[in-house]
Amino acid sequence: MSFSDLGLSPPLLKAVQNENYADPFPIQIQAIPAILSKKDVWGLAPTGSGKTAAYVLPILEMFQGKTAVKSRAVAVLVLVPTRELAIQVDQTVKTFTNGLPRNVKSMAVYGGVSINPQMIHLYGTDILIGTPGRLLDLLSKKAVDLSALEILVLDEADKMLNLGFKEEVDEILSGLPKKRQNILFSATTEESVASLSANLLHQPVRIEI
Ligand code: AMP
Repeated sequence: MSFSDLGLSPPLLKAVQNENYADPFPIQIQAIPAILSKKDVWGLAPTGSGKTAAYVLPILEMFQGKTAVKSRAVAVLVLVPTRELAIQVDQTVKTFTNGLPRNVKSMAVYGGVSINPQMIHLYGTDILIGTPGRLLDLLSKKAVDLSALEILVLDEADKMLNLGFKEEVDEILSGLPKKRQNILFSATTEESVASLSANLLHQPVRIEI
């Protein structure tokens, strides 16, 4: 199985090649076609499995052929439990967007640093990656608009719940447009994450590696 069998277009295949990824990892073989076909996905995969590229690549595919909109409306929201993961996911997105015909702007937002620069730089962001608390702060300041959200990703959802972010996540989810694609990744199927996925995902493709 190679990346070209997964339904990615030539610009994305070139981006993968530039990263010297020879073959897709198992999570990518299963998740990329499912996400490209607009299905909700529950991926059970630990860190190091290649889960980030498994959702970033098909999400970037969605932007090809889509006109850039300069506003505070983001098309994709990736919720993560920690600042470290936010930065890491943003770096992965930026790695792959380098050289794509359609420029895609991503940004990581997290607490522990001043909110003002984040508010300024947010304008025109397509893919927003953030921790729940800081995202709520930005929403309350009307610095982010989620009314046109197309894809929601919860990465390391089990960790997010274990760190006590359930209320924040619920609050964010309650303000999202109903019609959207949902992608959830967790390392476990523990009760709390199973219940979140049952509420959030619509007929998901469940992928276990
Ligand atoms: P992740 O689980 O998303 O944190 O990825 C773990 C590491 O695997 C990262 O350093 C990725 O750059 C790398 N990686 C992901 N997919 C591939 C692949 N298909 N081939 C080689 N390396 C990969």
